[in-house]
Parts: sequence; structure tokens; C-alpha cells
Amino acid sequence: MSTVLDGSPGSEGMAAGTIFRLEWGVPVVPHRSIGKGHLAEEVDRFESALEWARSRLVEDKAATAERLGEVEGRIFDPQILMLQDPEVVDGTAGYIRENRLSAEWAFELRMLELRAMWSRTSHPMVLDRLNDLEDVMIRVLHRLLGKNDPADLVALDGDVIVVAPNLTPSLAVKLDLENVRGVATDHGTRTAHWVMIARSLELPAVVGLGNVSKKAQDGQPAMLDGRIGRVVLDPDDTDQATFQARRARISEWEKEIAVVTALEPVTLDGQHVELRVNLDLPGESAQALAHGADGVGLFRTEFLVAGRNSMPSEEEQYQVYRAAAEAFPQGAVYIRTFDLGGDKFPMFLHMPQEENPFLGWRAVRVCLDRPDLFRPQLRALLRATPHGDVRIMIPLVNDVDEIRQVRELLGEEAAGLERDGIPYNRGYKLGVMIETPAAALDAAELARYSDFFSIGTNDLVQYTLAVDRTNTRLARLYNPFHPAVVRQLHQVARVGRAAGIEVSVCGEMAANPLGALLLLGLDIHALSMAWPSIPEIKKFVREVRMEDARKAARKALAAPTSRDVISCLVEGAGDAVDQDSFAVRWSMPGYA
Ligand code: PEP
Ligand code: MG
Repeated sequence: MSTVLDGSPGSEGMAAGTIFRLEWGVPVVPHRSIGKGHLAEEVDRFESALEWARSRLVEDKAATAERLGEVEGRIFDPQILMLQDPEVVDGTAGYIRENRLSAEWAFELRMLELRAMWSRTSHPMVLDRLNDLEDVMIRVLHRLLGKNDPADLVALDGDVIVVAPNLTPSLAVKLDLENVRGVATDHGTRTAHWVMIARSLELPAVVGLGNVSKKAQDGQPAMLDGRIGRVVLDPDDTDQATFQARRARISEWEKEIAVVTALEPVTLDGQHVELRVNLDLPGESAQALAHGADGVGLFRTEFLVAGRNSMPSEEEQYQVYRAAAEAFPQGAVYIRTFDLGGDKFPMFLHMPQEENPFLGWRAVRVCLDRPDLFRPQLRALLRATPHGDVRIMIPLVNDVDEIRQVRELLGEEAAGLERDGIPYNRGYKLGVMIETPAAALDAAELARYSDFFSIGTNDLVQYTLAVDRTNTRLARLYNPFHPAVVRQLHQVARVGRAAGIEVSVCGEMAANPLGALLLLGLDIHALSMAWPSIPEIKKFVREVRMEDARKAARKALAAPTSRDVISCLVEGAGDAVDQDSFAVRWSMPGYA
């Protein structure tokens, strides 16, 4: 009988093959003491193991930079830095010298202490750091114990699905794409560094499966769907048929991409819809263009700071923003100022431990408190404005004062550029993300100070429903079609229209055909999403009429429950959505 395991989508794509369980774990360390006369020697042995690990990581970084790009190469920086961190180096050397522990015992002890310290929070960004810590621990301990480097993967034969408790960036880049068809892990999040690498490599991955590494056996047949986050072990005939049908549909679909890409995103009754991309990494621009993006609706700039121990320079930022603007000469490029805090912690900011980080010091609140971080970003953004239609977007705004303050800082930076004779576009646009009920309800006031609105439904849903978007236990309750969300979308769209400013949506909802239908029905004509969703939404847009979308939205606005909202939209979409696969693909809470 088949076993279905549901996790989270890590990297899109489907894979079938046999399981290969990757043995990547912390080795058992014998607890050995060192004689007094050999302590200095033992410290030397420890330091040379660190140096060895550092040079392997530097090699991996260079290889990744060459294969995927500079930014992806920097994913190794946190691990390289960890090997030089006094907390690690001095802490371990102290245990050797003072407690006469062997190098491996002392190192294990120190790393376990650090892991316990960092584990007190459950934020994905910190979890990613724990993942880095484990990677470093495994490598150095293997070296100290005289074992082979476990990152030297054995050659794999046939079509393989790699299963592991978790992966690391160094392992992800070493996977042999000739044979590895997909990856399934117990832990991990979509923002984990290795998952980003998997996406860049177009290697399907499902993460957060809980116990796949215990359930799966070597050589067992399996199928994996990275789009819906599902793994099936020992698939039976029905599973095989569903998988094959879905795969065939997707490959048909992939053939259509080239055709769809060239078509205009326009509804049957002639409404043009702007389809833009959400960029997490600058390297995604090429795929976005190949998939028909009209511009960038959301450029998340956190990659410039995540996992780094120093702030990015103005010049580095300018180059990145300029390249994005130049990649989309025909379209608008919305660059969001740093959305730090919540689940995104840069090392250098020393974010305080907070009881409720999503209700804490994050996004524009951090930026306004840290002009040393914010001003160079604003200056770099202004400098990028002559290179395209760059628009500056502020996350998590609640209050007009926040916009006023950002405008003031921008004005000062613009004056500085003027003084220095550096060009920028004086007509630059500054707008806000609508991500909280406060912003949605106060949209009329915010509109007076904003050149545009972009609705971040991921956060808007979380704050409206008081459901943590990262809490998998609550996933069922995280419902973008809740009537309270629908009404706020309506309100923001209405206010934006009345104020004559563009309203777009850059949350996940825009990538869902039913979400797109609702948004079109509310007269929101600019949608932004991850690049793999663009062709699908474009095809959908071309199959609907505004008239039907408006009617469905009107009905949805009057619907008493989420389930009723979804029913109105399913009915309104008619043949434009694949009704059979719909429930599976979107796992709508309250619908499936
Ligand atoms: C959102 O909140 O909808 C959004 C697009 O921003 P992020 O997912 O980066 O918080
Ligand atoms: Mg957000």
C-alpha cells in the first residue's frame, strides 16, 4: 500500500525514482582526555581541522559561484564565518586547555552548547543557522576522527530521490543532477539556503515532511511533487496514474510556456493584466523573463543581509538594484526596502529575542530605528532610478507617519546626491505595502502619501486572522479566502482607484487562479508572483472575462464563510480552472 506524506513545497517540479537515504549525521564522539603535556598539540590539531573545513567551504563557495552566480556562492559565508567565530574557536580551545578534553570532544561540547542557545527560538532564519551549525559540526568532527569527508557523495545510479533529515548548501551543490531527480527532507523551510539552491538548480524538493528519513527505505520506489509538497512512497497503480497524468499535464504545459510567454496577458474581454515577478534572488531575473514577466512586482532585498555579519555597502546594493532595473527595461521594478525581523534575522543586527517577533521589531520599524542601515539602501535605490522604472516600496506600514519619515530620509539622501552631482530621477515613486488590517482600514489616509499600494496578502492574512504564517499546525486556518480578507481587499482596491494610484498584489494569493479571479473581479489588474506561476496565471487570465470575474467577486463579497467565497470563485472560473485537480493543488482549507 502506498504511503502519502505531506510537507511543504520547497522547489517546484515532479520526480519519480528510488529512495537513497543520505547518511549525513553527527558521528559518535569517544570521550577521551588528553595528557597535560599534549594540550598545545591538541589545540593545533583542532585548528588545522578548522582550517581544512574552511578551505573545503571556500572551494564549495567558488564552485557554486561559478555554477549559479556570486550571490548563491555567498550562501556559504555563514558557515565560513562560523569557523572563525571566537565563540566557536576560543570556546573549544578553552575546553581543551582547561578541561583536558580531546579536540573532538571539546568541539562537540561547544557546538552543542551553541545549538542549545540558538534553538530557543523557532524562527526559520535561526533554524537555517542551526542547519549551518550542523553542517560545520559534521565536517569538522569527521576530520578530527579521521573519517572520510561525508560531503564526498558516492556516485549514484539510476533515478534517485535523495532523502535526509535535512540538507545543507554544501550537499545541495554536490548532488549529481545526472541521477538525482528530487530531494525530500524531514526539516527545512522554503527560505533555507539549500532550498534556494535547489530552486536555482531546478531540482524538485519537498521539505518539512516530519519523518520521511525514518519512513523511507533505500531502494523503495517513490514519487515527489515539489509544487504541492507531497511525497508518495510505494505508489500504487492509482497514485502512478495520477502522477503520470499530472506530469503529462505539466509537461504539456511546459511546452506551452514558450507559446504563452509570447502572448499578451489579456482577458477574453480585453482587460490587460500586468503580470510581474517576485524576486528572492537577483539570479531569478533570467527565469522570470523566460516565463513572461512584465516587470518585478516585489524584489525582496533581504538576501543582501541574510546570513551576513556586515552590512552591504551602498555600492553593492546600487549594482544589484541597477541590474534588476536594466533586466526589465519595459516594466516597472518595485524594490522593497529591507523587511527584516519576523522570520528574517541578519546576524549583524543583533536582533533582540522577542516574545512575538511577527508583532515585533520588523520591517520599516527596524529601518527607521537604524538609519545606518537604511540610508545607504535609500541612496542606492535613488541612484538606481535613472536605469529603469524603479519604484521604492515600504513593507509593513501602519501609519502615515512612517511614510512621512521615509520620505524625509529620501529627501535628505536625494539632496546629498544632488550635492555630489550623482544622477537620480527626481520623479521617483514611493509606495507602501498593505499588509496589516490597520493599513487596509486606513488606506484612504495612506493613499494621500503614497504613489502606489501593493497588497502583501501573505502578511495581511496572518495579521487579519491572527494565524502565524509559519506555523504548520495552523496551516488549515490560514485562509486567504476568509470573508474578512476579501472585504479588506475590496476596500483597498476601492480606495486606490478613488485616489488614482495603482493597486497591485504581490502575496501568494495572486499565484492562485481563484485568487487571481477574485483580484481581477475587484479591479486589481497588476499581479506579482514567483516566476514558475506566471505562465499558468497568464493562461488563466486569457480564459476569463472581467464580467464573470466581477460577478464572482460581488458574490464572494456577500458570502458568509470562506467555503462560500471559494464556491463563488470556482463557479465564476468555470472551465478556466481544472476543477478536479484544484482541491489537491491548492489544498484550500475549508474546501478540499
Ligand atoms: C506578503 O506579505 O504578502 C509579501 C509579499 O511579503 P513577504 O511574503 O515577503 O512577507
Ligand atoms: Mg510581507
